[in-house]
Amino acid sequence: LSFTSCGLPPKLLLNLETAGYDFPTPIQMQAIPAALTGTSLLASADTGSGKTASFLVPIVSRCATYRSQHPSSSHPRNPLALVLAPTRELCVQVEDQAKMLGKGLPFFKTALVVGGDPISAQLYRIQQGVELIIGTPGRLVDLLARHTIELDDVMMFVLDEVDCMLQRGFSDQVMQIFRALSQPQVLLFSATLSKDVEKVGRSLAKGEMILIS
Ligand code: AMP
Repeated sequence: LSFTSCGLPPKLLLNLETAGYDFPTPIQMQAIPAALTGTSLLASADTGSGKTASFLVPIVSRCATYRSQHPSSSHPRNPLALVLAPTRELCVQVEDQAKMLGKGLPFFKTALVVGGDPISAQLYRIQQGVELIIGTPGRLVDLLARHTIELDDVMMFVLDEVDCMLQRGFSDQVMQIFRALSQPQVLLFSATLSKDVEKVGRSLAKGEMILIS
């Protein structure tokens, strides 16, 4: 499998090439084709495996397809994908890679929802129209509790480092956020696949989930 055989938008292929992503990593070979079809998955993946692009490539691609098929959808544009990660640092890294992969696409804006920056600025950015929100569970719950954000169009929900999120006690907040969504595809990534991690996956994906290890 190569990136060119996945039916990705030309701009995304160009961005992958520019980044020097010549061949998909093993996790990308398994996760990207499945995620592009809308399938939910739980993948065991360490840092350094290329797990971030495993969800960002399908996100960029599916957002581009959606925007081209719904040219006159809501104004401002509502987010289409939501990524939760346990730390601010990780969220920043995910956003950097998302910007790199989405560069030059007509509609691919991102918003970071993490502690440390004013919540008002984060809200304002979302209200201007974004495709992807990347955040920590705590800050996102704060934002949802205090402000109205339209999450009905979110079709992809990603949990990065699920094991770490459970260890940090984020599971209630994750479920609370999930309940604000309308049955999205779920993509879960975890360094370890414990019973608890699988349980979270099965409850979010309603059983329709493939395992990649
Ligand atoms: P990650 O596991 O997502 O933290 O990625 C680890 C590193 O590998 C990051 O610096 C990525 O930019 C890089 N990377 C991800 N996918 C590829 C690929 N297919 N080819 C080359 N480098 C990659």
